[in-house]
Amino acid sequence: MQYHQLGNTDLKLSQLGYGASPLGSVFGKVDQSTGIRTVHSALDWGINYIDCSPYYGLTKAETMLGKALKGISRDRYILSSKAGRYGPDQADFDMSPQRIRASLDESLRRLGVDELDIFLLHDIEFVDLDYVLAESLPCLQALKKEGRIRYFGVTGYPLQSLQKIVHNYPLDCVLSYCRYALHDTSLASITALLQQRGVGVINASPTAMGLLTERGAPDWHPADQSLIDCCRQAQQLCIEQGVNITQVAMQFAVSHQAISSTLVGTANPQNLRNNIDWIEQPIDEALVAQIRQIFAPCASNVWSSGLAENSD
Ligand code: NAD
Repeated sequence: MQYHQLGNTDLKLSQLGYGASPLGSVFGKVDQSTGIRTVHSALDWGINYIDCSPYYGLTKAETMLGKALKGISRDRYILSSKAGRYGPDQADFDMSPQRIRASLDESLRRLGVDELDIFLLHDIEFVDLDYVLAESLPCLQALKKEGRIRYFGVTGYPLQSLQKIVHNYPLDCVLSYCRYALHDTSLASITALLQQRGVGVINASPTAMGLLTERGAPDWHPADQSLIDCCRQAQQLCIEQGVNITQVAMQFAVSHQAISSTLVGTANPQNLRNNIDWIEQPIDEALVAQIRQIFAPCASNVWSSGLAENSD
């Protein structure tokens, strides 16, 4: 496993990070012992970065992760969690300083830790970005000064939202998802800006939330039919070449030099083992070129997320 520094922070994240959303049963029901075993395996196999949120399974993921981390030395893992999003609907967002502070206390309690290494505002595109700049981010800055968190940043899907924040506030990192994977590489268009500002880049969802797996995406996936069709074609090509599409997806997502860590979610230790083994093997460039060709004419490899004014 390789370890990469996150922007200007002193954190060295494993190239592959563990995304704990599946512990909230968001991709299918997960029993506690398997979930806990997956977290322990991740740490034993060299992953040192774990990400969670109170939103995943409406606190279930943080609660299960807290049980998994109990008794594990705090220096073995770098932990991020989030605030601001508490459900699927627009009304479930609250990025007020008061709620952010209460949310941090609740997350620390559920996770069983005294501080978070990284604290992120969850999916900023759903709220007024001027409010985020004026109220929410100064709150995170204050929490950092108070020693409650070590570093902070934002997460979001539209790149325009991330760019606006980075242009207007000194952040430690951003977490982007589904924007550097086989179907969409647009995150690469803003990595120069992020690097120039010393903002660390965390890339999430290398399988595009299940799209680039043999099982396919869950019902709630926002991709439109044309993208799902392109994924099927890509999968067919991989089957013909005797390769699992998730192998290529994992290898591709970790390949960008500006990305410190790529978060993959699974509650299955065997999947995690495969992912770790795959990223250590050389990528088949010719196959990647063919897959990228399949996605090139795809009508829309981007979906809408959040307020219209914050969309790409
Ligand atoms: P992902 O691309 O990691 O996909 C997860 C899905 O892929 C699950 O169904 C899992 O079972 C499957 N999978 C993983 N490895 C596999 C393998 N080897 N074989 C077959 N299937 C495999 O998407 P994700 O879970 O949404 O993203 C990873 C993490 O990134 C999340 O858990 C979360 O921590 C973070 N994330 C954050 C945000 C945000 O902050 N807005 C958004 C998305 C993801």
